[in-house]
Amino acid sequence: MTDMKDDTKIVARGRDPEANFGIVNPPVYHASTITFPNVAALERRSELHVRYGRLGTPTTFALEEAVAELEGGANAVITSSGLAAIATALTSFLRTGDHLLMVDTVYDPGRKFCDRVLTRLGVETTYYDPLIGAGIGDLIRPNTRVVYTESPGSQTFEVQDIPAIAAAAHDAGAVVITDNTWGTPLYFKSFAHGADVSVHAATKYIAGHSDVMLGLVVGTEATYPALKTAVTLWGQCAGPDDVYLTLRGLRSMSARLGRHQENALVVARWLAERSEVARVIHPALAHDPGHALWSRDFTGANGLFGVVLAKPYGKHAMAAMLDNMQLFALGFSWGGYESLIVPADPARTATKWQAPGPLLRLHIGLEDTEDLIADLADGLARLETASG
Ligand SMILES: *Cc1c(COP(=O)(O)O)cnc(C)c1O
Repeated sequence: MTDMKDDTKIVARGRDPEANFGIVNPPVYHASTITFPNVAALERRSELHVRYGRLGTPTTFALEEAVAELEGGANAVITSSGLAAIATALTSFLRTGDHLLMVDTVYDPGRKFCDRVLTRLGVETTYYDPLIGAGIGDLIRPNTRVVYTESPGSQTFEVQDIPAIAAAAHDAGAVVITDNTWGTPLYFKSFAHGADVSVHAATKYIAGHSDVMLGLVVGTEATYPALKTAVTLWGQCAGPDDVYLTLRGLRSMSARLGRHQENALVVARWLAERSEVARVIHPALAHDPGHALWSRDFTGANGLFGVVLAKPYGKHAMAAMLDNMQLFALGFSWGGYESLIVPADPARTATKWQAPGPLLRLHIGLEDTEDLIADLADGLARLETASG
């Protein structure tokens, strides 16, 4: 079938029951050694797809193909985590003497990778305003080799004009990398919007159950070979059970995301009306500064958004709220089926951030929104009481 719709691809790609006794899902191959029947075959092993465990098995190829096809890339590589995917993507293209344009609102450990590792390798990083758009052209130098985007921005959710940034970067011959963890391969088509490489913390919505650490880097025909070389020579790989769980998570991702998005909008709209809240940062809400770009480029949102509180509530009041939540757990990461709440630290990832009060990051899970809203209402009441 040509022109398969996304929901069909999610179900149909990355598996081949006919090659596997009719079994619906691909087998989990636990493999290090791959044996060869004779010396001639051993000598010709570079022609084989399956030749050493670290280099891939039918289990890993199934996930790589399914995600790449869904996003519109040529192929993908698997890494041990989302952060390893960022490091792999960057080091696939950067060399000593190169310049990197990195979005100021990048996922914080990615920023540390630039400051602590790339500096040592002789790569200079300039952080740019996420809202720069085509103005990125003014920051490009003759040695700018990579322009890195992440939209919406980590913690502060600025939506970037990736097509405009990519056009300017390509004029200068730079490679465009995007961290598409929030958009997912379903709701943001990185390659159709100008990216050359797409990074995913599959840990989040693709795996989707808070039980897996895994990264994926998707490339085009032009960029995939460099990605494959990098994962091979950095020794990046993931355990087969985690790869399998991620592929299993992918099958229900569209259904889960739809519900996360729906639930999050109900909760976000309720929060936006509260006196304790200055602003809900959620690009799918009409008032959001990123709404126009989000509507143009994305086909959906998810359960993650920010809440700026109306005044500088102190540590004690924040703890009174957050220590006693019944359904919202305090914890990092997101994309699982359960709701999370965490105080954000935007100054680390958005150096020009200003707000009247603390920023909370909420992940809305698959619970009933009436229960979630009741939990938040109690929490906001504790916040007000404790702030006196
Ligand atoms: C969580 C996250 C990562 C890192 O993923 P891990 O699997 O936790 O290493 C990278 N990018 C974004 C946008 C993330 O939210």
